[in-house]
Amino acid sequence: MAIQKILIANRGEIALRIHRAAHEMGIKTVAVHSTADADAMHVRLADEAICIGPPSATDSYLNIPAIISAAEISHADAIHPGYGFLSENAQFAEIVESHDIAWIGPKPEHIRTMGDKVEAKRSAGALGLPLVPGSDGAISDVEEAKKIAADVGYPVIIKAASGGGGRGMKVVNNEEELETQMQQAGSEAKAAFGDATVYLEKYLGNPRHIEFQVFGDGSGNAVHLGERDCSLQRRHQKVLEEAPSPVLSAAERSRMGEICSKAMADMGYRGAGTIEFLWENGEFYFIEMNTRLQVEHPVTEMITGIDLVREQIRIAEGKPLGFTQDQIQFKGHAVECRINAEDPRTFMPSPGTVSWYHPPGGLYVRVDSGLYHGYKVPPYYDSMIAKLIVFGHTREGCLMRLRRALGEFVIEGMKTTIPLHQALLDDPDFQNGDYTIKWLEEWLAKDA
Ligand code: ADP
Repeated sequence: MAIQKILIANRGEIALRIHRAAHEMGIKTVAVHSTADADAMHVRLADEAICIGPPSATDSYLNIPAIISAAEISHADAIHPGYGFLSENAQFAEIVESHDIAWIGPKPEHIRTMGDKVEAKRSAGALGLPLVPGSDGAISDVEEAKKIAADVGYPVIIKAASGGGGRGMKVVNNEEELETQMQQAGSEAKAAFGDATVYLEKYLGNPRHIEFQVFGDGSGNAVHLGERDCSLQRRHQKVLEEAPSPVLSAAERSRMGEICSKAMADMGYRGAGTIEFLWENGEFYFIEMNTRLQVEHPVTEMITGIDLVREQIRIAEGKPLGFTQDQIQFKGHAVECRINAEDPRTFMPSPGTVSWYHPPGGLYVRVDSGLYHGYKVPPYYDSMIAKLIVFGHTREGCLMRLRRALGEFVIEGMKTTIPLHQALLDDPDFQNGDYTIKWLEEWLAKDA
């Protein structure tokens, strides 16, 4: 089936990103937007635009009946959910498909399995992915938990099966704390996610976050597109990502990549996915799988030359994968900086009106952003306003170009995290690729 018109169920830079891929394929686009986003760039560029509700995401970007109505009214034959919002809502995917609209995403049952962390870990283990040692599934009995914790060794971490966004986790340092922390984790998970189910695993002291991009055709063929290193995090939120990881050898990449692609082939996975691992002392430990396009997907595009959104659309049309594993070549190095409308030191949100805008340019410099002169950043959503992605033939060259590009980037009218990225680039540890998931917070605390 050739898709003619895609409804983009998202906003901001990712909505624009999807619109661009669609137009390059000759596919028309429908933007849906809240009243707060009437002047957004993707709304202006889309072939049609439909307002689906007031600013609150619950009433607009999460409003399933309004989005389905918009698709029917505009005769869109496919929906791309982007990331966040409804992108990992299995029920939404089912509703879309039951309306005979193509869902540009994985099979609903796979979204559901991977959305439950206990189920996800069980499937990952069955598919041969290396796991963080811990409880075999959900745990509620304290004595049993004590036994497992003693076995894997303290500290351990209690995680909510339905957790997400870095929430619903408790680190436990010794047996005395275990019972109270388990109870607290359960009741907090119940309050936040409506599900008290928790599980236990070893708490890794100082790992890196390394994730593999995968793609499947839904009928047993799958490939991997290498890894991204997303260790630079603040409060479990990624700040800067790079590909390839500075610590992985080509042999390790293909060994781990093949484990991932085989797992995806065996499960019959369809479309784009990311398998996230913690990496410590040369070992990988699965933590979760994201069944959607990731914010940081452009670094993979830069080193492979493959347009991931185009590929998602092709798969949703029922076409085979556009390339074999052998045809995927990794070339050079790419870094992405997430630029937020926030104070670069306190991270206080700083929405406002763009009074001057000048994005950087030149060879191998990409800016994914819906900003323009006079645009008013609404206060209701995520504070990310732009992504700067830079490629270089070597990591060193990439960092030089990134420094040059950050220096050219002008966004006036609000505070942004551009100065944070500039300071990071000046740090020798960062320059050497010598950092873990703890590094950025310690670095910020040192400077405070
Ligand atoms: P979420 O879905 O909330 O993002 P994840 O399972 O992906 O949850 O974990 C988020 C982050 O929490 C990881 O990137 C890592 O920083 C930390 N984390 C999770 N599990 C462990 C663990 N077993 N040991 C150490 N850190 C962990």
